Amino acid sequence: MFAAVPASPLPGHGLPDDSLALVDEDGERVELDEFEATLLLDMTRGLEPATVSACPGCRSRVVAVVAFLDVLEGALAHERVYELTELGEDAPTLHLYVADLASDCDHREWRDPLFDEWADAFAELPPVGRLAP
Ligand SMILES: [Zn+2]
Repeated sequence: MFAAVPASPLPGHGLPDDSLALVDEDGERVELDEFEATLLLDMTRGLEPATVSACPGCRSRVVAVVAFLDVLEGALAHERVYELTELGEDAPTLHLYVADLASDCDHREWRDPLFDEWADAFAELPPVGRLAP
């Protein structure tokens, strides 16, 4: 056992590699690193066509599952597209929740009832940054 993992330069924000997390109501979760996140947003027009509510200060948002699966059609070259499609297809509700892990935004400007739904989706998750063995 080696404990040679360097301290995170972003305390409180989990692994520096995690940039965007997508979860469903069940807590199923797909995390993308900065490269994958940028690429996904690039290929899906920033997920705008699927967004039903978004934080004005960061990339966190609520997306509609059906529209999300639709925009993924334009991102079939993305290496995580199968995971993302599966997440959407298995989602128990009509919404998926996207969190911008790279931002330290406190979402104070996000005044929308869907923000509460979004916050709930992430409140039930185990602490970010716990590494699987
Ligand atoms: Zn925000």
